Amino acid sequence: MIPITVVDVSDAEPLVREVLRSGAIAQGPMVRRFESTFAEISGTRHAVAVNNGTTALVAALQVLDLRPGDEVVTSPFTFVATLNAILEAGATVRFADIRDDDFALDPDRVAEVVGPRTRVLMPVHLYGQTADMGKLAPLAAEHGLHVVEDAAQAVGATFEGRPAGSFGLGCFSLYATKNVTTAEGGVITCDDDEVADRLRVLRNQGMRARYQYEVAGHNYRMTDLHAAVGIPQLERLERITAARRRNAERLGAGLAGTPGLRVPPVLPGREHVWHQYTVLIGPHAMLSRDELAAQLTERGIGNGIYYPKVVFDYDCYREHPLVPEASPAGVPVAAAVAEQALSLPVHPALSESDVDFVVETVRELLGA
Ligand SMILES: *Cc1c(COP(=O)(O)O)cnc(C)c1O
Repeated sequence: MIPITVVDVSDAEPLVREVLRSGAIAQGPMVRRFESTFAEISGTRHAVAVNNGTTALVAALQVLDLRPGDEVVTSPFTFVATLNAILEAGATVRFADIRDDDFALDPDRVAEVVGPRTRVLMPVHLYGQTADMGKLAPLAAEHGLHVVEDAAQAVGATFEGRPAGSFGLGCFSLYATKNVTTAEGGVITCDDDEVADRLRVLRNQGMRARYQYEVAGHNYRMTDLHAAVGIPQLERLERITAARRRNAERLGAGLAGTPGLRVPPVLPGREHVWHQYTVLIGPHAMLSRDELAAQLTERGIGNGIYYPKVVFDYDCYREHPLVPEASPAGVPVAAAVAEQALSLPVHPALSESDVDFVVETVRELLGA
């Protein structure tokens, strides 16, 4: 069996033991060490660690002091946390369609959706490749919008040399299956000293000095135990990413030209970190996407459908007052991609023969 993801935290033990022995297991020096290493990687002045990626998004929106009716423009093709975080922050969500090459916000569609109440642009760097920040960042600046990046899947990715998470407030997830994990965890990156300070106060019940409350806050803290799990991975992140990239290149070379299948393009100027390797199975393929997925599972090849529908296409969002005017017909590219996307194993634990087995099996099933 070749799983779709493998969690490797085998190098975490020494630091975790150190924390356990110290008896100080909640937020402390290990979290600070994790944060400074993370800030270096993302090329930002600050990294604020929190307890998961969803709260990273919520906290990033909360420090922007949004008012009822303020709108956040985001992608309809994403994990549900993107949407839930916006709703948790009390903002109204507007969806702009994606492009089918980077699976991220299409700047032209964003321009059509931005209105007088729009305050935040939230691109999602899906599968490990950044959105088109060369167009999206200037667009946000032109309309006076804050940029909050959902970089949950894109630690280490760059756009024209600039790291994901350095274009505004960067929100990362450290969930078990992400490229870097602390089991559960999240990070917000930013350059602004005052915003970073407010995030730190917000994550700790709004408290600066003991029992001195500045804002109505929350408990968003990461623990030293979790930070200890993640630090060694940050230190070997380049190797983790290189292994994913090698596997992606081998998959791409092997799968190119398979009838009905499109390999994921790497766009110029973007360094992809391959959180997922996602192919599109078109309508003329020998098997439907779902049939191919089932066949692969049967033959011991893990796979995943990220994501089977556009994010708002569920009953719980249909009448939601903060999700107005959302319809799959309004985001046709996202709706089509959701029917065609299939992710194949690309994680660092794959051997060359694993990758070759994936390639040969997919090609055989699609009649190549
Ligand atoms: C994983 C993920 C999140 C949420 O992160 P959690 O740590 O699971 O809360 C948000 N957005 C995207 C795109 C993700 O993949």
